Order: sequence, then C-alpha cells, then structure tokens
Amino acid sequence: MVHVGIGYDVHALVTGRKLILGGVEIPHAKGLDGHSDADALMHAICDALLGALGEADIGHFFPNTDPRWKDAPSRVFLEEAARQVTLRQGRIVNVDATLIAQQPKLYPHIAGMKRNIADALGIREAQTGIKATTNEHLGFVGREEGIAAMAVASVELPA
Ligand code: MG
Repeated sequence: MVHVGIGYDVHALVTGRKLILGGVEIPHAKGLDGHSDADALMHAICDALLGALGEADIGHFFPNTDPRWKDAPSRVFLEEAARQVTLRQGRIVNVDATLIAQQPKLYPHIAGMKRNIADALGIREAQTGIKATTNEHLGFVGREEGIAAMAVASVELPA
C-alpha cells in the first residue's frame, strides 16, 4: 500500500538568527525564529512523512517546550521520521517540497538541501524534490516577514 502525507510549516524572519533551510546555512540579514534551528523545509517534510504514517505532527514528537530541542538541528527530526517509517516496515518512495520565500534567492542552495535531506532520510537525491518560489510580494511571505514550506511524502507500507 502506498500512503501519501502532506506537511506545511512557516517561521518568522527575524534579525539575530541564522537562516537554515534544508540543513544549509544561507547568508542573509535575517534568520528564522523558533525553538529549534527553525528549518521550515525539514519540518514540513517531517510532517509529510508522519502524515503518511497517520502519526501526529512533529510538535508531538518534539515539543517546543522541551529544552532538549532548543536550537536542535532539524536533521534529528527527519532522522526520527525516517525511523518511524522503518519501525512500520515501510519504505519512503519519495518526498517533494516547495519553499516559499521572497528573499533571499534560494536556487543556489537547492542542491545542498537535497543532499542533506536525502542523506538524513536514507534515500537517493532522485527521490528528493526541492523547489523554491517567491510569493510575488504578496502577503507575509511577500513582505519578507516569514518563510513557508510545503511538502508531500509517499511511503510504501505493508498492507
Ligand atoms: Mg516548524
């Protein structure tokens, strides 16, 4: 049986934080605010995988009130999602995600993000889709107040 899941995340852009997306530190005047490293891309993919398993969201596994996850690299969340798939004797078919950011230009960093995410999930880069788009200056993303990410995941599970 092939299951699909969907994930969405958004974090606010603030000064004094690093901008980390897909595990890549991206030079920018602002970074994403959050309890962990606030990697919205990894969080959305994590929720997509958990969704495909019918599990609760990332906040259930890693509460933002838990000091263990303060400034944690989000790679550990992805690794846990992959572990949950394995626990069910499942196999990740693919993940696909879109980052929505007005600034900075993300395209030069996509290859690095893909590598990091494929690596954390134990899948091939060919199974890992990452795209980026702007929000045409509309809304909070367009005003550069935050960055959003959406993702889907497909997981093969025993019937
Ligand atoms: Mg998040």
